Amino acid sequence: MTINHYDLMIIGTGPAGITAALYGVRLGLDVVVLGDIPGGSTFMIESLDNFPGFPDGITGTQFGVQAFQQAQQEGAAFTMTRLNQLTRVEGLFTGTDTNKQKYTSTSAIVATGRIPKRLKVPNANLKGVHFCSMCDGPLYRGKNATLVVIGSDNAAGQHAITLARIADKVLLISRNKRFQMDAALTNRINVLSNISQLSGTEVMNYEGNEVIEGIMVKNQEADGKVIAVDGVFLAVGWRTNTKMLHLPVKATAAGYLKTDDKLMTSCPGLFAAGDVRETDMYQVLTACADGARAAKYCAEFLEEKNHLE
Ligand SMILES: Cc1cc2nc3c(=O)[nH]c(=O)nc-3n(C[C@H](O)[C@H](O)[C@H](O)COP(=O)(O)OP(=O)(O)OC[C@H]3O[C@@H](n4cnc5c(N)ncnc54)[C@H](O)[C@@H]3O)c2cc1C
Repeated sequence: MTINHYDLMIIGTGPAGITAALYGVRLGLDVVVLGDIPGGSTFMIESLDNFPGFPDGITGTQFGVQAFQQAQQEGAAFTMTRLNQLTRVEGLFTGTDTNKQKYTSTSAIVATGRIPKRLKVPNANLKGVHFCSMCDGPLYRGKNATLVVIGSDNAAGQHAITLARIADKVLLISRNKRFQMDAALTNRINVLSNISQLSGTEVMNYEGNEVIEGIMVKNQEADGKVIAVDGVFLAVGWRTNTKMLHLPVKATAAGYLKTDDKLMTSCPGLFAAGDVRETDMYQVLTACADGARAAKYCAEFLEEKNHLE
């Protein structure tokens, strides 16, 4: 089997990986990209309304496919296979894909995103169940909506505050006895009259046929009570995709890759971009920005390495 060598191997075909590929090629690097879904998680975005340049919005799928084609036209090689394992021996990265094909490279960018956790309830996938208040909250503007946020930490609190500007009522529900938000956030929530809080409450089921109409809850006072809601926003955690990294790299307890201010991980030559990285905003725009910056710093890393050798 021939092993193809590249300057840069990118893992992930979401906004971060595609933008890294586009910039990488334009910076003169030989780039290979592993991943099988053009646009990555953008296919889950009904309408991308918060990306400049698309005043009428664009479907996530269209955005992802167009960006993918742009990077392809620029000259990046896309394998359309997933990475099974990435190793690094004596400064050389070796990636093995799902077809057992091997690729080697001198630098690599991990752009494998993250996946939202869902509730394990029978109707888990009804329309109206969301993961991002900044993205999907505006769908409810002007609709006198009652929205529920499920979760107990700062992420849940942030969602509730964002949604309180849009909805008539926001109900914050946690199965824990206490919410686990920091004091400043709790104070901000407590002064908002349209947010109510229900702790020690488990959501047992979503009600509705195709679209969510209510949630069935269980707590000390009631078992099986149905609360009418127009939308649910989940903040019950995310899962990062990093299991295939068979090399030492520092990550947070939740699995996000730690990077320095040039987006390099603790492993020399390995960069991270987009939602897989420990950062403060998880959006298409910030993932694209990460991709561009990671490619630039990869090029600098390679230049320095060639210079030194
Ligand atoms: C339901 C939903 C709605 C959203 N709405 C918006 C919105 O309106 N506006 C907005 O700005 N943001 C929105 N977001 C967030 C946005 O989708 C992400 O911030 C963005 O897609 C992150 O880009 P990324 O490239 O880092 O990761 P991703 O888009 O997640 O792409 C990562 C890709 O890597 C792939 N991958 C994982 N493991 C491997 C492997 N081993 N080998 C190869 N490939 C691998 C994944 O399958 C995926 O295709 C939304 C997210 C969700 C879930």
